[in-house]
Amino acid sequence: MLADATIPLRKPIDGGHRPMFIDGQWVESLSGERLETRNPANGRLLATVPSGTKEDVDRAVKAARRAFHGPWSRMKPFERQALLLRIADLFEKHWEEISASDTQDMGLPISRTRANRLRVVGMLRYYAGMATAITGDTIRNSIPGDVFSMTVREPVGVVGAIIPWNAPTASSIWKIGPALATGCTIVLKPSEDAPLTPLLIADIMAEAGVPDGVVNIVTGTGASAGAALAEHPDVNKLVFTGSTLTGQAIVRASAIGPKRVSLELGGKSPLIICADADLDKAVPIAAMAVYAHSGQICIAGSRLFVEAPIHDEFVQRLVAFSKGLRIGDGMQADTQIGPVVSRRQLDKIMGYIEQGREGGAQLMTGGRQLTDADLAAGHFVEPTIFTDVEDDMVIAREEIFGPVISALRFEEVGDVIARANDTPYGLAAGVFTRDIGKAHRIASALQAGSVFVNGYHLLDPAVPFGGYKSSGYGREGGAEQIDGYLNTKAIWIDT
Ligand code: NAD
Repeated sequence: MLADATIPLRKPIDGGHRPMFIDGQWVESLSGERLETRNPANGRLLATVPSGTKEDVDRAVKAARRAFHGPWSRMKPFERQALLLRIADLFEKHWEEISASDTQDMGLPISRTRANRLRVVGMLRYYAGMATAITGDTIRNSIPGDVFSMTVREPVGVVGAIIPWNAPTASSIWKIGPALATGCTIVLKPSEDAPLTPLLIADIMAEAGVPDGVVNIVTGTGASAGAALAEHPDVNKLVFTGSTLTGQAIVRASAIGPKRVSLELGGKSPLIICADADLDKAVPIAAMAVYAHSGQICIAGSRLFVEAPIHDEFVQRLVAFSKGLRIGDGMQADTQIGPVVSRRQLDKIMGYIEQGREGGAQLMTGGRQLTDADLAAGHFVEPTIFTDVEDDMVIAREEIFGPVISALRFEEVGDVIARANDTPYGLAAGVFTRDIGKAHRIASALQAGSVFVNGYHLLDPAVPFGGYKSSGYGREGGAEQIDGYLNTKAIWIDT
């Protein structure tokens, strides 16, 4: 049933042009227009990609619909599982290219993109397992006579997926994986700031023998290709990861169809350090809870609440840790902190740092754009720590999406929970304490989709991930995510 295609992976970063992937073909936008994508470490042009339009999205959705009505959605679970395992093996094989592509397109250090292999390949193998674990129920009903009722689970159809730039590989697989496991087809629109790895993933899909039209990658801007996908009347489900503002536009657009929606949105996550915490463990984790991805991570623990007796010592140690970090081009093996993705992002972060200063917070370290020697052509921001931050300051309320920590002092655990929850967001939260009872009490009181105790950034495909409040709804990972790609049909048999 599967095509026996073997397409060699193209060189990931070639400074040339990359077509997009629709119906198993590498194609140009009908508009003929192109977008540039540049390396944020040095400003060099990496490649151009098509600037997809409404017509291109329509082509892709039609291809996805045809593929859905082909043999694809009726493929047996074992076949689907074998395909996902083959894709996982190809990810292993091509991981160096994938990690180099992510590093150059969005800046994350190569040591981290290399280390993401376990997580991403693990996600694919997890979804392979889920392909054989889709079940329905038989349900006893109260209708007189011998009437039987049962449920079957069927794929929802065509999925439209829109992702940001901060984790292109993992974000793509978090959408493509469940689609392949359940028998849906998918049109994925990557961010205009990091479109190259999703195109590389399309190569792998072709190499694995994914049938034409099952996975389509349409590059383009949010205003054009993104909005067209969100509004397309023949898309059955939208999965969106991005900012809360764009998420609201997605929900409005989803009324056309209407479509099922799941949203992974922004955050302003609190991380609480209690006086009894293991500080040797907590300091580096609290720093990297924000600095990982140069702060461009949705669960960044950017509101750091520190209990009064240890506040000054903790901040001092955090400053020392921050000053020791190696910042530079992510392609250098020893780089710990890479650039932020674009000039626009850099300006936004520097604007927040200025507001922090003007608002009366005390800058303990960082606060500058780095322009020394090789860094001048890139978008580098020093790891930054503010203290004397008040709860109502802009830097304590808005998502900065940069390497900026706002440290806030607290006196009472009871107070800090209310302060931690005083935000429109609810994506993640963390607490460091040696007292297991206190850890449980705080974890259950925090309004967030993930709560990390004595750790941070813990993610696994089997564990649901998603937001409370304005951080979104629906879950990625776990059985709940798979449910989101399935319709439930009740079948009645009146004997
Ligand atoms: P963004 O909302 O600007 O863009 C995300 C995607 O949406 C891009 O592909 C963009 O082209 C597209 N888009 C923009 N406008 C659109 C529209 N009107 N219709 C349809 N699509 C549109 O977000 P960003 O700046 O790329 O990413 C940063 C944001 O993503 C942060 O808020 C971050 O917290 C969030 N994020 C959330 C998670 C999570 O899992 N909750 C993960 C990563 C990032």
